[in-house]
Amino acid sequence: MTKNPRLRKATSTPNIQATAAQDKENEDFPFVDDTPRELLSLKDMKNVLNEIGRPQALPQPPEFGRSSPLGLRLRPQPPPHAAWAKRWSSKRVSFSSIITDNEEKGLEKEDPASSLLLPEVPTHAPEPVRKEVSKDASFYCKPFCDFMTNNPTVFHTVASLTDELKAVGFKKLSERDTWKLEAGGKYFVERNGSSMIAFVVGEAYEPGNGVAMVAGHIDSLCAKLKPISNRRTNAGYVQLGVATYGGAPNTTWWDRDLGIAGRVLVKESSGKIVTRLVKLPHPIARIPTLAPHFGAVAYGPFNPETQMVPVIGLDNSGPPFMTSATPESDYEAQSVLGGVGSFASTQPPRLVKAIAGELSITDYSTIVNWELELFDTQPAQTGGLDHEFIFSGRIDDKICSWAAIQALLNAASIPTTSNAADSGIIQLVALFDDEEIGSLLRQGARGNFLPGTVERIVDSFASPATPSLISRTYANSYLLSSDVTHAVNPNFLGAYLPQHAPRLNTGIAVVADSNGHMTTDSISTAILQRCADKCGQKLQVFQIRNDSRSGGTVGPMLSSAMGVRAIDAGIPQLSMHSIRATTGNLDPGLGVLLFQGFLEHFESVDREFRD
Ligand SMILES: [Zn+2]
Repeated sequence: MTKNPRLRKATSTPNIQATAAQDKENEDFPFVDDTPRELLSLKDMKNVLNEIGRPQALPQPPEFGRSSPLGLRLRPQPPPHAAWAKRWSSKRVSFSSIITDNEEKGLEKEDPASSLLLPEVPTHAPEPVRKEVSKDASFYCKPFCDFMTNNPTVFHTVASLTDELKAVGFKKLSERDTWKLEAGGKYFVERNGSSMIAFVVGEAYEPGNGVAMVAGHIDSLCAKLKPISNRRTNAGYVQLGVATYGGAPNTTWWDRDLGIAGRVLVKESSGKIVTRLVKLPHPIARIPTLAPHFGAVAYGPFNPETQMVPVIGLDNSGPPFMTSATPESDYEAQSVLGGVGSFASTQPPRLVKAIAGELSITDYSTIVNWELELFDTQPAQTGGLDHEFIFSGRIDDKICSWAAIQALLNAASIPTTSNAADSGIIQLVALFDDEEIGSLLRQGARGNFLPGTVERIVDSFASPATPSLISRTYANSYLLSSDVTHAVNPNFLGAYLPQHAPRLNTGIAVVADSNGHMTTDSISTAILQRCADKCGQKLQVFQIRNDSRSGGTVGPMLSSAMGVRAIDAGIPQLSMHSIRATTGNLDPGLGVLLFQGFLEHFESVDREFRD
């Protein structure tokens, strides 16, 4: 029996193991008598606190246990951090001072610190099930920034998002196999490792019913390694042969710390070819500007083939100043990694060693091929006086794509006891590669990936899927094409139309274009507006000036391929197609909430528009 029952209660934390030394220490405390293994000394408490992390200022916990005004059905139990926040306010983080003070006092008298209870579960413990069903847009800022920092390429993006899906029970489908789907099932399918479709079949789904679709693109402007990226050492520099992708590297890529990442095809000892993702942990490349002191040549225009070649190292073993006329005999013969004729022999040897080292590959000849690209290594982070911005690379369009998957995860995590069990539609998110280069590849939106997947879903429930059944499906469906749009730039107000200039941290912007570069029309706008009303989200609008050129995205090509009603609407950002862009800290979350509202409410809203 302890003399301090409240402290004894604290020691019931299961992962606390008192050592023999600690037992000895405990003997020095009068209130720790016959149960040393269950009790904590103050030193133990400090160790535990150091181990599990001290409480910091926490976000406002969302409201749980009831339907919110937004119609979002929240999980019935609060997350651990809510209880934690209640117990340890941010004003009580100074544990060391409290405990040191009490050690001096020997806890002889009743003291508030002596009644401190350890949390039963560390607040940062990994959660086995999805907890991110929050209506608080700020909740999604940090997860989004982490996602952006960790997943620079399309391959990393697909791997990361499908891992999230798998963690909550989505089943992977292969395009090679027969699909046997079930009502209430959750599935995803990839193509080329660079595009993906995830969907949830409603419990009451019947073939011919509609599909509520959100589509985005996950590719971004970048510099891709050329098939043979090895170049002759030039004036003491090792350089890398890169090709443009979507217009990058453009002038915003000068003087940036560039990393390298992508996928590597490796032949295993069994003869099987496997795909391995790789990302070197430090910047390896730089495209250096020419100082303005050199005059006009420093101001461009620049030749992307000859003046924007990344440097990736130094090698001063060659002639002091080489030109294209320097004979081959002046260059030192480079070692041939992987053997003559191997893929590795066509790449910079030190790069091959770095990539192989990262993947623990010792036989360079087993590298069959790779697709690598350069990326800005600066992490995504918040900024502004109150952290109201997010500064990040590759926002276009990983932001809408990430938000769409989070929305589907949220919608799919709703307990089946809610009215989600009555859903008769399919909720679907499709993320494509190659939008920045026209989408006309098999993993792009102009390919057959999305219509083919929808038709296979229908076929799984009503084989064979007749043309009329497919047509009915599309007629009952709706596509929310989500790509970033232009936030208003205060320094270039004249470039925007008044009333058509979206702001940050305000809401998704519907993008209209009278010349068909966008799919938006009055009916699709009215449908999305009704969904936004039902989930309490605000829509903005963007349209380009008549004297400017509209961009394009996946909406028109997908809606025309399937004949579905469709809208283009996306998260506003500044500096589109820059290596580093800006959006609002609430904008990822506003995307999640609007997309989730669409997935959840489309079915009922659509009835309002039925003839
Ligand atoms: Zn885009």
